[in-house]
Amino acid sequence: MAKKFYLTVAIPYVNAAPHLGHALEFLQGDVIARYHRLLGDNTLYLSGSDENSLKNVQAAKKQNISTQQLCEQNTQAFKKLLKKLNISIDIWQRGSSQTKHWPGIRELWQCCQKSGDIYKKKYQGLYCIGCEEFKREKDLVNGRCPEHPHKKLEVVEEENYFFRLSKYEKQLLQLIKSDKLQIIPQKRKNETLGFIKQGLEDFSISRSVERAHGWGIPVPDDDSQIIYVWYDALAEYITGIGWNWGLKKFHQWWPAELHIIGKGINRFHTIYWPAMLMSAGLALPKSVLIHGYITVDGRKMGKSIGNVVDPLELVKKYGTDAVRYYLLKEIPTTDDGDFTEKRFKELYNADLANGIGNLVQRLARLCQNSGANFPKNKLQAYQKPGQTKKFIDNYRFNEALAHIWTYIKSLDKKIDQTKPWEKSGQDLGKILSLLVPEIQQIGSYLTPFLPETSQKIQKIFAGPKIRAPKKPLFPRLK
Ligand SMILES: [Zn+2]
Repeated sequence: MAKKFYLTVAIPYVNAAPHLGHALEFLQGDVIARYHRLLGDNTLYLSGSDENSLKNVQAAKKQNISTQQLCEQNTQAFKKLLKKLNISIDIWQRGSSQTKHWPGIRELWQCCQKSGDIYKKKYQGLYCIGCEEFKREKDLVNGRCPEHPHKKLEVVEEENYFFRLSKYEKQLLQLIKSDKLQIIPQKRKNETLGFIKQGLEDFSISRSVERAHGWGIPVPDDDSQIIYVWYDALAEYITGIGWNWGLKKFHQWWPAELHIIGKGINRFHTIYWPAMLMSAGLALPKSVLIHGYITVDGRKMGKSIGNVVDPLELVKKYGTDAVRYYLLKEIPTTDDGDFTEKRFKELYNADLANGIGNLVQRLARLCQNSGANFPKNKLQAYQKPGQTKKFIDNYRFNEALAHIWTYIKSLDKKIDQTKPWEKSGQDLGKILSLLVPEIQQIGSYLTPFLPETSQKIQKIFAGPKIRAPKKPLFPRLK
């Protein structure tokens, strides 16, 4: 029976249109989803919109539209990006879904309540709307949130519901140390362990209706309180697959094999979320993969700096697979990386135009001119063990691509050495019939990364007659 593989990327706030960081995360998820489908696994890939946050309320006010309108508008922008980047997402869950999200959240709440993990308490704290989180004194740098130093923290004093996180301290430590809940890479695992060892404090999981501006999901049996946005958004991972509205489906998919997130929200996914699930008596995700941030020209991307890169503009200018290639190759999978348009063009010309594009054109033309017939091969590169596969299994996509490019270079060299243009008749047919399966293999290796290019290559070299494409796969940039 086929294995199942359920993966998610983070549920983005839809307070603005998506930026390059979102594109990177969707792509990382897409590589894994496509790879598992190639292996024959039953694969499900989910993301969704985080709609019930204060950020959205504020952004809507600024634009003078309703919060619902803002959510619609930006959800559409996200969906457009998914399409343009060729992201094979299966489910887009919405925080505003009153049938497929709200009842699930309220049931999750009630499950935690039954475990004795929810209680009411008067509280005073500093709230960062950027993070949608209360900050502890020790989290602050110069009295500000390190992620949002330009935003002033809000002093909040109110009676909220709290979640008994402290109760799960020992269990969490054990789960993470033993890799039962695997955190990748190691440095992020250490970060989580370090945080737990400081001692876990219970956290607020509701806010007053006034502070929420009436926006969000009311607490069961207490309309004066709205469920905290993180408690709400994290649960999209389960409500999206049927928690509480399609339990058969839910049990078929849960727990997730993998959550992919950015480093800024590590704590929510490796501490809060597993504790909530344990409290509700639900299974835990198997692993969490954590990527870094993208800087632009060496600087943090931000509206105030004016260097926000629109991934849709990039796709329009350079094409889907070129953008996929840059983000997957140039940004190390679990580290920070930089984007510059200059580097983009360099990489495009070197690896795409002169690399794979040129190789395909060259070999196809030789095949076409030979007039030979070629066998109809259908290759699947990842069925057998190999270095590229190993890199993907270890979530090192940039290294997997670097490895595929060594094949590309070595095939180019082989053509140089065997000099098919000096041969004819049977000799020529023989040489080419050894080279063609290699490019087919490369095409297959590219499937998770550059699906369109992979398809084109496999089509061109499918046999029996091979024709060179009229236009190069990647026209050179000036
Ligand atoms: Zn913050």
